[in-house]
Amino acid sequence: MVDYDVIIIGAGSVGVPTALACASDGLNTLVIDSLPSVSQADNKHAIGGIRATHTQKGKIWLCQRSIEIFKNWEQNFGDDIWWSQGGYCFVAYSKEHQKMLKSNIELQKSYGLDINYINKEDIRSLIPGINEDNLLGGTYSPEDGNASPLLSLHAFYRQSKNFQAEYRFNETVTGIITKNGIITGLKTNKNKYNTTHIVNAAGGYANIIGKMMNIDLPVIPESHEAGITEPVKKFFNPMVVDIRPAKDEVFGNSSNYYFYQNKEGKIIFCLTPQPSIIGTDRRETSSFLPQITKRMISLMPRLKNIKIRRTWRGLYPMTPDGNPILGRVEGANGYINAVGMSGQGFMLGPGIGELMSRLIRTKLTLKDKEILKDFSFTRDYNKEEDLK
Ligand SMILES: Cc1cc2nc3c(=O)[nH]c(=O)nc-3n(C[C@H](O)[C@H](O)[C@H](O)COP(=O)(O)OP(=O)(O)OC[C@H]3O[C@@H](n4cnc5c(N)ncnc54)[C@H](O)[C@@H]3O)c2cc1C
Repeated sequence: MVDYDVIIIGAGSVGVPTALACASDGLNTLVIDSLPSVSQADNKHAIGGIRATHTQKGKIWLCQRSIEIFKNWEQNFGDDIWWSQGGYCFVAYSKEHQKMLKSNIELQKSYGLDINYINKEDIRSLIPGINEDNLLGGTYSPEDGNASPLLSLHAFYRQSKNFQAEYRFNETVTGIITKNGIITGLKTNKNKYNTTHIVNAAGGYANIIGKMMNIDLPVIPESHEAGITEPVKKFFNPMVVDIRPAKDEVFGNSSNYYFYQNKEGKIIFCLTPQPSIIGTDRRETSSFLPQITKRMISLMPRLKNIKIRRTWRGLYPMTPDGNPILGRVEGANGYINAVGMSGQGFMLGPGIGELMSRLIRTKLTLKDKEILKDFSFTRDYNKEEDLK
């Protein structure tokens, strides 16, 4: 039987870049996924937003590294992953939101984020056609961007295989093998494999893997819907985030609404249902479209004639505070969490992948140690992030 330095459970937003980092650092790496190829669970449901604009330092740092990887990918490896550095713009339509956005800037800058508060006129020129009634201004972080989740994951996958990472698809992990409390391998529905390290990157199903180690992970899948329009001539670059809650008695309330125009000119959009829809249901609903079109047209009236091509639904693997759970767990020797990505697994993936490789090779930096402390399994989950 082959011995692997690390087996990663899940070939998604986190598992594939983790395999890339581990294999390129010389670790004998295997990835196992129940589905037939990479990116077949929630990575392909992500709309492709990539921001370091968070209010939690660990997320800022991880995503800053991810941005470097996404941004330089084509130059380094030749694949066009549709990276576009259009920035992120959180718009404020109330004094309360203006105050919250402004109050975070100092902290964000102290962690190295390029972000500023901009006025209504600047917003108007960045997002032509935005509804200006009661618009006060917003934040703009020009280094953020977007890319295609499918193209990116396939590019990371190919490159990881160039570094000898191995993949087993259509194979489900059913158990973890330990000896005297130390991991020695795992079982699937088809095989057994030897390893000293297992990375749980199982997304919406992470707590099933946690239970195999008697670890009760607070990761709860939530359903979120998204959609895409026909292409139109490119007229704005940033991801626009409207954090106003919207009341809709017929089709359902929502909190955040966000959208951008992709490389093909199509507008990709998403909203956060309020209250959350807990569960693993990925069937799209008939209420999402009428619910979101109201928000779209009210925020950007010029979109009233654009045709929506399709909608879809996927999962956010949510934690109580919206932050991921990363790193080792006391008493579970060889087991590593890379779970609870919430709505940010695609943007966090490459940064987390490199961190996982350093953790396994005991090459952690001081920053890594701070990140792992903030995102440890045993942290206090009561502190929610403002930009969760
Ligand atoms: C509508 C929507 C929009 C989103 N937009 C964005 C966005 O703009 N930016 C962003 O960063 N994020 C976004 N997200 C969130 C993002 O999609 C998730 O955070 C991310 O995909 C989670 O990554 P993951 O690797 O943990 O899980 P996944 O990508 O789902 O991968 C987990 C993998 O584990 C496998 N697996 C599970 N259990 C087992 C087992 N027992 N054996 C073998 N394999 C197993 C699964 O088959 C799956 O392939 C969005 C999500 C949705 C639903």
